Amino acid sequence: MFSRFAGRNGLWVAWTGHSLRAVPLGTLALTAAWCGGAAFALGIAARAWRKLRRRDRLTGLYNGRGLLTRLQSVLTARAADNADLLPPVAVAVVDIDRFRWLNESLGYKAGDEVLKVVARRLEGCVADRGTGVARMDGDTFAWVMPGLGDRAAAARFVSRVVDEVCKGMTVGGRLYRPTLSAGIAVYPDDGAEAGVLLRHAATALHAAQAEGRGVIRTYDPAMSRRFQEQFHLESELLRALANGEFVLHYQPRVQLSTGAMSGVEALLRWQHPSLGLLPPSRFIDVAEETGLIVPIGEWVIHAACRQVKQWQAEGLPPLRVAVNISPRQFQRDDVVAVVAQALEEHGVDPAWFEVEITEQVFMGNIDEANRKIHAFRRMGVCVAIDDFGVGYASLSTLKHFPVDCVKIDRSFIRDVPASPEDAAIVSAVIELGHSLRLRVVGEGVETPEQRMFLEARRCDEVQGYYFSHPVPPEKIPNLWRNMSRREKSGAGASLPGCLCTAGLSSEP
Ligand code: C2E
Ligand code: MG
Ligand code: MG
Repeated sequence: MFSRFAGRNGLWVAWTGHSLRAVPLGTLALTAAWCGGAAFALGIAARAWRKLRRRDRLTGLYNGRGLLTRLQSVLTARAADNADLLPPVAVAVVDIDRFRWLNESLGYKAGDEVLKVVARRLEGCVADRGTGVARMDGDTFAWVMPGLGDRAAAARFVSRVVDEVCKGMTVGGRLYRPTLSAGIAVYPDDGAEAGVLLRHAATALHAAQAEGRGVIRTYDPAMSRRFQEQFHLESELLRALANGEFVLHYQPRVQLSTGAMSGVEALLRWQHPSLGLLPPSRFIDVAEETGLIVPIGEWVIHAACRQVKQWQAEGLPPLRVAVNISPRQFQRDDVVAVVAQALEEHGVDPAWFEVEITEQVFMGNIDEANRKIHAFRRMGVCVAIDDFGVGYASLSTLKHFPVDCVKIDRSFIRDVPASPEDAAIVSAVIELGHSLRLRVVGEGVETPEQRMFLEARRCDEVQGYYFSHPVPPEKIPNLWRNMSRREKSGAGASLPGCLCTAGLSSEP
């Protein structure tokens, strides 16, 4: 900035950036002092800024950038040494289970409090074994463990940390006990670069979370493959929806007292262009996880309504069609409106429509679930609890929710009448259902003995391969005629109603 000494009268000739000027010496000294100070201050500010950029504001922990820098330097040092002789470096990523739920139920301030307590506890546990805990984002924390032996030792250490952190705490005046899920990746086996290692630890965390709460998993390449497949499946499902590759098959429900077809359940199938007809078990979980079940489910509701009208146009009497509503669909505010709109659009009487929900919906907001069930009932739509007995609901659920129908899960039907325990459970559910004036449906009936058992206990309706597999819609009219012929001849109630011999009931 300043160029040349001019000597006389205490003047410097200074380059000011634009021109040469004479500057008094005093001014120059002050300017120099200011500049030196400023440079010093700037140095401090820059360091503080760099530090700040590596710190999380809420907890004071490192942030993701800070952790990555530290991990990089640990790995660089390791690569310079003889890595084979040194213990592996493990990275742990942990996440608070159901943190969103906590935020939504107790508020964000309470959520912040929990984050601070978890951060403090993690730091306390990890201090002498790790390189400092980082808050990656939201409710996810991570740290590096440079010398813990092997994978198993890392998992044992993380498990101890998680146990310590998950002790109870008071939040907003209430006792709260968090659970944490964790994923671990180990250098050099799971990745030689910091970014890859961290990503693989996060993949292990996602795999752990998919298994439930409080699970700890170490990385396995199969996890990445699974997630890639899921990603692929997700984009294929989107294409399937756009290209109209979904179809509905229908499984008859049979009235046990008459042997007549009382309705059908619509069951989703994917007519895959290269893999053929795929059952829901191949894609429904990914659809549910990604939220694609919402548009797919809407398509199902409309397709089932269209089909009911078509059967009626073909001369069939009205048949009640049951449609499965996934928990994610049911959670949506517009679920009742979507059904109402489809019924109106296709001119279907709500009395011939049934929604099947699972016990899982009672795990969320119970008042909300109750409100929606009431709204369906007011519309005239029937509500059934599907797969009853395998979920979280207790028998008292039936008393509290105004449903019309309960479907006993096929895992209880499978071993009746041979298993006294299952026989007792099935009998109790039928009896309780009747005392609450509910229709009771037995699912998965495959043998004449199962049918007779249910008939003797006055189960109202049954569904299962013994009567018919799910079939394409064009096969339903024939099945209906066969069943009503048996009903008229009086064979329906006393003889096995198996239609397998008619060659109509197996799924193509
Ligand atoms: P679910 O609603 O309980 O449907 C009954 C399942 O049991 C069907 O399997 C049916 O084919 C099978 N099944 C019926 N009778 C028998 C039997 O006698 N023995 C045995 N072993 N199985 C029998 P599917 O069609 O593979 O559907 C499986 C599940 O996928 C359904 O269970 C339902 O939870 C779900 N799902 C099907 N369609 C839809 C849909 O449109 N939307 C949603 N959200 N879920 C659907
Ligand atoms: Mg069902
Ligand atoms: Mg079921």
